[in-house]
Amino acid sequence: MEWETVIGLEVHVQLLTKSKLFSGSSTRFGAEPNTQACAVDIALPGVLPVMNKEAARMAVKFGLAVGATINRRSVFARKNYFYPDLPKGYQISQYELPVVQLGKLVIDVDGERKEIGITRAHLEEDAGKSLHEEFEGLTGIDLNRAGTPLLEIVSEPDMRSAREAVAYLKKLHVLVRYLGICDGNMQEGSFRCDANVSVRPRGQHAFGTRAELKNINSFRFVEKAIEYEIARQIDLIEGGGKVVQETRLYDSVRNETRSMRSKEEAHDYRYFPDPDLLPLQLEAGFIEETAKSLPELPDAKRERFVREYGLTAYDAEVLTGAHEIADYYEAAVRAVPGQSKLTANWIIGDLSGYLNRDNLEVTAAPVTADMLAGLVRRIADNTISGKIAKEIFEAMWGGEGDADAVIEKKGLRQITDGSAIERVIEDIMAQNPKQLEQYRCGQEKLFGFFVGQVMKATQGKANPAQVNELLRKKLSGTPA
Ligand code: ADP
Ligand code: MG
Repeated sequence: MEWETVIGLEVHVQLLTKSKLFSGSSTRFGAEPNTQACAVDIALPGVLPVMNKEAARMAVKFGLAVGATINRRSVFARKNYFYPDLPKGYQISQYELPVVQLGKLVIDVDGERKEIGITRAHLEEDAGKSLHEEFEGLTGIDLNRAGTPLLEIVSEPDMRSAREAVAYLKKLHVLVRYLGICDGNMQEGSFRCDANVSVRPRGQHAFGTRAELKNINSFRFVEKAIEYEIARQIDLIEGGGKVVQETRLYDSVRNETRSMRSKEEAHDYRYFPDPDLLPLQLEAGFIEETAKSLPELPDAKRERFVREYGLTAYDAEVLTGAHEIADYYEAAVRAVPGQSKLTANWIIGDLSGYLNRDNLEVTAAPVTADMLAGLVRRIADNTISGKIAKEIFEAMWGGEGDADAVIEKKGLRQITDGSAIERVIEDIMAQNPKQLEQYRCGQEKLFGFFVGQVMKATQGKANPAQVNELLRKKLSGTPA
């Protein structure tokens, strides 16, 4: 039997507002437990929620960016359940009428483009946190996160493999960071994903029963958790069993999913419109103004990079993977116009490598866009070779000044004086008569030996193209 996988994702995006969704408490991460939870957040009797306008603006930004319908009127509802970190006994969310509906995101997997539908995106508040490890035999409750604004983005069950799910998730991650509505930090839980997974015999129209996977906090784990779950479901069905609808926890240490609880149905939550909150009404002007504030979006930027800078699709994709990288690239290219490809290579290669090594964001790179441009300029005008440029880059990274300063200080200027190179070659020929004779008797691979000797003698500074050309002449004995 051939099986087909069906995946739909629910992503919780923590919005970058300064204060909470319905109170004035700070949303800053990492504060002492319970120091950022006010009377509204801890649900003292008599308090009333007041909607945060910035959160609405961020939801609208997202909706516009995925071509969705922005509902001019949406309704907050109470989702009732009991949990120690939920002080009100309900979560304020949106149910029947969310603020954003029916959008889409286009993903690309192995060169194949595919549209993934976005069913809805709604505003809701986060719950607090239960701390199980800090206290022996007790559970601690930290309500700092209670009331933090989330945008829950629900996809259609349109994905057919773990890789498609990861591609969708990455696309969404890049987008929310471009929009400036989320910092995207998966470790701190600012961008969380639940994956709904089911399998069906290929060709069957009806969906199979799904399991919902929780606790997946990296792109790699999304892929692994889904792969594991697909295999588990297929084994189960082929062994005569049945998939039950349930919530499963992903354990990244053991790389497996485990049953956590049977899946509740919507009616279990007793949703009803929150009587404390008026429906959210968006004026046309507010939506228009928000539309005007949208930045250039990732896809548009990528296409423009191909068009404007003549980059390959791959290079453009990497450089627009975060708007900070794209900004860095454009600043560098503005400083050395005409070197768009070489500049791209340096960013994708050395700069990214150093950033990774030192665990730095591009905005904190010790080599600024202007400094990189200065280096590229000296490669392009033949002052230095590409190899020496790497040495200079390292020196710049270490704080030794810009490219010109390092070239002067270390005397790294490339030797392009033909007669100087010829003199070096003649010396080397004189010092290695045996190799010279073997070369002349047909041992052509010794050419590399001579190139190496010349580069060594010039500390890598001889222009490589000239070295090659002059060596060919001299070694073969033709008069120069
Ligand atoms: P809930 O909020 O209870 O999890 P929803 O109906 O909002 O339920 O669906 C949640 C997610 O599950 C959506 O992303 C949807 O695409 C996905 N989904 C629904 N049915 C299936 C299925 N049979 N297999 C895989 N994913 C599914
Ligand atoms: Mg769900």
